[in-house]
Amino acid sequence: MRDLLPYLKLYKKHWFGLSLGMLLSFATVAASIGLLTLSGWFLSAAAVAGLTIARETFNYMLPGAFVRGFAMGRTAGRWGERVVSHNATFKLLTDLRVFFFSKLAPLIPGRVSNLRDADLLNRLVADIDAMDHVYLRLVSPMVVGTLAILGLTALICWFDQTLGLTLGAILMTLVITWPVLFYKLGKRNGTELTQNKAELRITTLDWLQGYSELTLFGAEERYRNAILDAQHKLLRNQSFNAHFSGLAQALLMLANGWTVVLMLWLAADGVGGNTPDPRIALVAFATMASVELLMPIAGAFQHLGQTLTSARRLNDIILSEPDVQFPEETIAHNGEYSIKYNAVSFHYPDSDAQVLTDVELEIPAKHRVAIVGQTGSGKSTLIQLLNRYWDVNAGSIEIAGKPIQQWSESQLRQAISVVSQRVDILNGSLRDNLLMAKPQADDLELAEVLEKVGLSKLLEDTALDTWLGDGGRQLSGGEKRRVGIARALLHNAPILLLDEPTEGLDKQTEQQIMQLFEQHFEDKTVVFITHRLVDLDKMDAICLIEQGQIVEYGNHQDLLAQQGRYYTLNQTL
Ligand code: ATP
Ligand code: MG
Repeated sequence: MRDLLPYLKLYKKHWFGLSLGMLLSFATVAASIGLLTLSGWFLSAAAVAGLTIARETFNYMLPGAFVRGFAMGRTAGRWGERVVSHNATFKLLTDLRVFFFSKLAPLIPGRVSNLRDADLLNRLVADIDAMDHVYLRLVSPMVVGTLAILGLTALICWFDQTLGLTLGAILMTLVITWPVLFYKLGKRNGTELTQNKAELRITTLDWLQGYSELTLFGAEERYRNAILDAQHKLLRNQSFNAHFSGLAQALLMLANGWTVVLMLWLAADGVGGNTPDPRIALVAFATMASVELLMPIAGAFQHLGQTLTSARRLNDIILSEPDVQFPEETIAHNGEYSIKYNAVSFHYPDSDAQVLTDVELEIPAKHRVAIVGQTGSGKSTLIQLLNRYWDVNAGSIEIAGKPIQQWSESQLRQAISVVSQRVDILNGSLRDNLLMAKPQADDLELAEVLEKVGLSKLLEDTALDTWLGDGGRQLSGGEKRRVGIARALLHNAPILLLDEPTEGLDKQTEQQIMQLFEQHFEDKTVVFITHRLVDLDKMDAICLIEQGQIVEYGNHQDLLAQQGRYYTLNQTL
């Protein structure tokens, strides 16, 4: 149950709506019990009066009015309760989703990178949805049910104490035992149901996303069967759940029926020491009506297993501390954006293999350094560390003479533009995809930048409104890269990190892009990662990295003259 605490805390903000919902729910239950109780008494009293002399004096107006009042009150109360409590829960869920997202974002790319997209999606959608059970199916029915039992007991006690206390005791026992019993019985199935729901989502998304590849490799059927398998399991859980709900309700009805018999037997000699009269019907009908307030409670705990599993899955994320934490306040610096790696060592958290060992590298402000090396040598890692995707294990990194741990996140992001090795295209319009780099840019500026990077083709037809990403216009690898370059041009930060910006482009375009860099990145500090040893004579320095260690450093001419590794590489490429 402790798993639910973070969610119960969120209730504070919406206490008014939630309490009003419970109040209305209480009024509804009171009206429906009142309706049945009063009508039971009214009908028998009217019948008895009809047979006796009392028919002249029997007041049927007042009870009649109350019956009508209760009937209308019940309908109006139910409607009001639904509107108010659903409104409050939806607001609560909105807050919860935002809260979850704000906790999730800083965990990327560190720990969360080993969760699958579909699994995250499931947590964000289904598991958060399950949290509305906490209020609608758990807290509210329990509070309202307990209060209503106390009310009903007091009412019957008013007529006859023994009857009132007996009924109260039976109802209380049911309220206490039923949920515990059915929670225990339904727990395993509830946990499985939540997991299988996630599994179904994951397998379906896997199949959808990889459909073309799976077809080409003849593996489509296997993946489709995995979906059917997951679906089958989920259906089995749901069917068990349905049977189980049915059983809980049936047993409750049975208990209620026997309680009615017991109460009738106890009341048969007359209520409150009087001779037998229509009040017997009142007691019997009140007992019968009490099932109304027990029903929701029977269901409540059956879903608790599911809700708790979902809460645990959400807590995995919400209670994690991000590996990388940024300070709030910005730091003062000299405005000379130099970069310095001091004896940096690093390995990824999920593997022991050392990726960088004792890297010493100093890049003065406005210098351009090329980093070259074989695939897997740690080049991309070097610039990811600069962006604080991860923090170094040993050593330190400084920008403008200040350790990057002291930079606030927005300040660091403003200082660095990146064209990463894999450019991600968002599901959105071309405009959205560019504006992320410079939100205040107007269409004209965006069009100009696209022109510059040679993407004017995209400006035809729907122009900036062209939808990219899923279900939209697909971009080739080279085009994506240019979008990445366009973003960097728009972002225009004093430090520029380029991770193989021309990979996958033809010679002519590569030349154009290199010229672009020449023009636009003149007084910037540039780190240029490349496989291709083209135009490196224009760089201020070249840094050759092998297996996470800098093996050669110097300018193009010097390195060639050394006739070392760089020289050999140049010969072979
Ligand atoms: P390429 O030229 O192919 O882009 P690279 O020099 O950029 O290679 P990195 O991406 O820095 O190489 O990777 C260096 C090493 O770290 C590789 O052995 C890679 O397998 C490993 N690595 C990269 N990313 C991760 C990660 N998220 N978790 C664990 N290991 C990783
Ligand atoms: Mg790389």
